[in-house]
Amino acid sequence: MEKNKSVNEEQFQKLNKGDKNKYVKEWSCECGECGKKWAYLDSVEKEMKRQVTGNALMGLGMCCNPCVTLSTSNANTQLSKQMKELKQCPECKSSNAQCKARYFSK
Ligand SMILES: [Zn+2]
Repeated sequence: MEKNKSVNEEQFQKLNKGDKNKYVKEWSCECGECGKKWAYLDSVEKEMKRQVTGNALMGLGMCCNPCVTLSTSNANTQLSKQMKELKQCPECKSSNAQCKARYFSK
């Protein structure tokens, strides 16, 4: 029994569709400044993107209400910041990072 079996992008692309669904995509990053390594799930980033899009649409529908528009853009600023932080070194806050996709079997 292998636990947390991981494959790289190239190996993943060779899998058939059914097998792809058994994997979770993760980004593995390494800081170009201090060498710190960290990882985050692709689904986390996707969920944030989805929320930004959703908020933007909501903002459009309520453009006559300045309060809603303002809070929506604040929420999006927050989300954009969080999305940026995913790719940023947690140690030295550098954005000089190399991120590679990895896939883990569920
Ligand atoms: Zn760093």
